[in-house]
Order: sequence, then structure tokens, then C-alpha cells
Amino acid sequence: MQPILKLDAVSRQFRSSPDFAQRISDMLTRRNSEQLVRAVDGIDLDVRPGEIIGLVGESGCGKSTLARIISGILQPSQGRILLEDRDVATMTEPERRKASLSIQMVFQDATASLNPRKRVMEIIGEAAVVHGIIRPRDMPAYVSEIMARVGLDPASRDLYPHQFSGGQRARIGIARALAVKPRILVCDESTAALDVSIQAQILNLFVDLKRDLDLTYIFVSHDLGMIENFCDRIAVMYLGRVVELAETEALFANPHHPYTRALLREIPTLEPKKRIFTAIKGEMPSPLHPPSGCHFHPRCTMARDVCSAEVPALRDTAPARRAACHFAEELKAQEPSDAG
Ligand code: SF4
Repeated sequence: MQPILKLDAVSRQFRSSPDFAQRISDMLTRRNSEQLVRAVDGIDLDVRPGEIIGLVGESGCGKSTLARIISGILQPSQGRILLEDRDVATMTEPERRKASLSIQMVFQDATASLNPRKRVMEIIGEAAVVHGIIRPRDMPAYVSEIMARVGLDPASRDLYPHQFSGGQRARIGIARALAVKPRILVCDESTAALDVSIQAQILNLFVDLKRDLDLTYIFVSHDLGMIENFCDRIAVMYLGRVVELAETEALFANPHHPYTRALLREIPTLEPKKRIFTAIKGEMPSPLHPPSGCHFHPRCTMARDVCSAEVPALRDTAPARRAACHFAEELKAQEPSDAG
């Protein structure tokens, strides 16, 4: 199936800003200690229409930066983003505007992302008017329809965000994204700030919207239980790179990368379906000074000499599965309980 979205070697670097003391030192020594941080490093990813892709990894792995690149909030430093086989960078301005509407982001903190001085009708309907999707006079009816679709009472459209509960504000954020008729929703920890029961309601809403509006999702989350239940495929990220990509069931049954295996190791919990990232030996290295070769080698129980010398390519390890490990085949042949 033709991908709706394709990332081709997408990277994003940031310049680190030195602290005050370092700036003074730089001035005195006439040096520049600014460093380049590779937040996202050469990501290849195809997203099929109607798919739900999960992006997972520890804090600082680059998943939120990648989500922002996909949504057009950040530009990649290198690489291409193709929407329905068209390179976004080579589109005309009107085409690019249309493409940017096709991919909408639903933020983690709905409260912070909603303008407190605007009424909900304006928050939801403004962009649709600005982009010519509806006429200004059609806004009340249009917003009412979207509010009803996401489970909000249309009669409350003249209220302000603070007059809603946390779960309702999350629905307002979703309604605002839907108002410009996107094809892809990028959800960055969109349910993380909500109570478990409200989380379940919002996830059910995402499922209904996918069915009714033919949406594709990219889900960033640290909640492995949610990812396991909700996503079709999972991309596991470590220090800016995708280290494993597989269908959800296959990945949970037998990871082909030691990092994924460490992430998925069960931890004792009262909620059998609730799995969070386990504490993997050692700390995530600084992206300012990533380890050579395989970035995971200082923490990997399977590491050998080659691991610090050569970057493992993300390669096929089985049909529809890819892993970036020099010893993925060995791992593939083991039962999950055998490896560290
Ligand atoms: Fe571990 Fe080496 Fe595989 Fe990296 S390449 S995950 S260090 S075994």
C-alpha cells in the first residue's frame, strides 16, 4: 500500500546554548563552545493510510522532536518528508499550506495549548475560517457539529477553556485539530495528563474518529500498556534513532533489539496491562556526546567490541520487521527471558 507519509533520512540538529559562565569563558578565550545536538538522526519511516504508529522510547530519545517535525512545527535539518508521494519541500506555497492542514498535532497539555482569552467556538473554528474551509457565518453550526462529534455539548461553545474539566479540554484540543479536516493526527502524550478513566474515554474517541473520518495516527507515548493496546506498529527510538520497527504483537512477543527487550521487561504492578518504561542499567547518554557506534552500547548487556566501533544499520530481521543491532539475528533466535 502506498504510504500516506514517508520520512526519508530525516534529521534535526539544535545548537546547544552555553550557560552564563561558559559564555564568559568563551569571551575571554575567544572560543565558541556551542555544540551541535542531534535530536533526530536519519529517520526513515513509512506510514500507511489508516495506520496507528506508536513512537516510544525514554525521555530525551527524540520522539517528541520527531512528532513536531512530522506536524510541520519544526523543519528538518536534513532529509525529506513526503506526503502522498510529494516532497513537502518542493511544493508550491498553497500546496504546502494544504499539506500542513493535513497533519495536525494534539498536544499533551491541552490547557496550555488553548488560548484562555478566547471562547471555545473561536478556538475550534478560527483556523477553518482563516484557511477558507468554512465561511465566517457558518462557524457556529460547524463548531457545534465538531463539538458533538468529540463528545462536547455544543451549547457550551461560548464558554472559555477554564470553564471545562481536564478531559473536556482534551476534547477541545482534538476538536480544534479536526476542524481543518486533517488526514493524520500526531498525538504527543495526548492522554498522559489525564486520569486513567478519562484516558480510556479519549482513546475510545480516537478509535471512533479513526473509523468515522478515516484518520491515520502517530502516537507518542511512554505508556507501553496503551501503546500495546492501541497501535498497529511501533517505532522504538533511542538517542535520536529508530532502533526497532515492528508490528505491535510481534514486537511485544519477541523484540529483536536489546533496548526494546529491556524496555518491555515486565515490572511488578497491580495493573496487569499497565507497563511503563523499566529502569534500564545506566543513564541515557547526553545527546551532546553520544556514544560511538551503537549509541546503546554502554548500557547493553550484549555489547561486544564491534558495537562501539560501527553504527548498526536499521535492517530487515523478519518480514515487516527491522532492527538496528549487529546481533539482531542472535536475539531473534532467543526466547525473551534469555537476554538482558
Ligand atoms: Fe547491543 Fe551491540 Fe546490538 Fe547495540 S549493536 S544493541 S550494543 S548488541
